[in-house]
Amino acid sequence: MKQDVIVIGAGIIGLATAERLLEQGAKVTILERNKAGQESSWAGGGILSPLCPWDYSDDVTRLASYSAKQFPAWISALHKASGIDPEYEISGMLILPPYDAESARQWCSRREIKIEQRKILGTPSIGNNIEIHTRKTFDCALFLPDIAQVRNPRLLRALLKRVAQLGGKIIEGCAVNSLKTERQQIKNIASSCGEFVADYTIVSAGAWSKEIFGVHALKLAVKPIKGQMLLFKFDIPPVHTILVQDDLYIIPRRDGHLLIGSTLEDVGFDKQTTTSARNHLLMRAQTILPSLCEMSLKQHWAGLRPASPDNIPTIARHPIIRNLFINSGHFRYGVTMAPASAEILVNEITKAPQPFDTTPYQKGWYLD
Ligand SMILES: Cc1cc2nc3c(=O)[nH]c(=O)nc-3n(C[C@H](O)[C@H](O)[C@H](O)COP(=O)(O)OP(=O)(O)OC[C@H]3O[C@@H](n4cnc5c(N)ncnc54)[C@H](O)[C@@H]3O)c2cc1C
Repeated sequence: MKQDVIVIGAGIIGLATAERLLEQGAKVTILERNKAGQESSWAGGGILSPLCPWDYSDDVTRLASYSAKQFPAWISALHKASGIDPEYEISGMLILPPYDAESARQWCSRREIKIEQRKILGTPSIGNNIEIHTRKTFDCALFLPDIAQVRNPRLLRALLKRVAQLGGKIIEGCAVNSLKTERQQIKNIASSCGEFVADYTIVSAGAWSKEIFGVHALKLAVKPIKGQMLLFKFDIPPVHTILVQDDLYIIPRRDGHLLIGSTLEDVGFDKQTTTSARNHLLMRAQTILPSLCEMSLKQHWAGLRPASPDNIPTIARHPIIRNLFINSGHFRYGVTMAPASAEILVNEITKAPQPFDTTPYQKGWYLD
């Protein structure tokens, strides 16, 4: 592929797409309003699966599972090329009640996904490395042993280095203001650092994607949903698996860092952290992991997820403007879905065969 491509937005989706295009010989420029890899992709948790996967449609499952399978090879290649280890780790995910046990059982059995029922003993006992504060015993926690995680800030650094190694040009501090069209084509891209012209333009600007399309957004429904995260640092990891209860999750990193997330707040483009969210997350996490009571908070931040109806991203050519594409709206699972979304979008541009039916990811243009 010898074309010039402009990618708007240097989050994980824009960078993964750029990497794939560069590998196919395209000349790629990435325009990034701030610093690359600092928005939602940095703020996220790096769990490589939907939280309770049976709660999502087949369209989410297909993309997330196909993508998650690409991680071991992708991370190993990025690590080798960049020297940065994104710490891919199969840490498993333990889901505490309440959850829909019948849906979980059926979903896993239909897909031959390993699932184990675990009995978790209350304090002071420790079972399976899981310490539970409430003296009640959880008879029926579900353990998904094959779920993995990455350290997303490290993955972004590795990816940025790889894109540069492959000859990609990343222009930071360059905000795209509008897309100018002529005869159903993008004529040029107006930005804070001048005008750009390319054969193809890809919008992967996360929560801001709809604003970039402006009048060309059609029915696209991508919008920001804020998520707040807390970070602690233990000397020794107090737990070795991801813990999930409803929307709360606890992610242990190898070096003792521990993330607690997250809120789902429909408050527009507001990234302020709040005391009420911090207290709420902390109180819930402490009931699962009492050792948190003795720890002091290291960091508290918020990110804006690019939310889409039913968590189904749009990965498609624009229906009218034929040299314009979108790869956005990955909502809660953009890290998980990144490599597969990049593959699908590049196949769409090059008209290569898709790994499965990708029409569900074209519907975002037409949603009401
Ligand atoms: C708290 C939280 C926890 C999460 N946990 C997980 C998880 O465990 N697992 C998982 O898979 N996913 C998780 N996610 C979701 C995941 O992080 C997102 O789906 C993903 O990062 C979206 O990537 P993106 O590249 O589309 O967006 P972003 O990372 O937001 O990147 C978009 C980029 O576009 C740039 N941009 C915007 N407007 C312009 C413009 N006008 N001109 C130029 N550039 C522009 C922005 O500055 C930004 O750098 C989480 C998200 C949050 C917030």
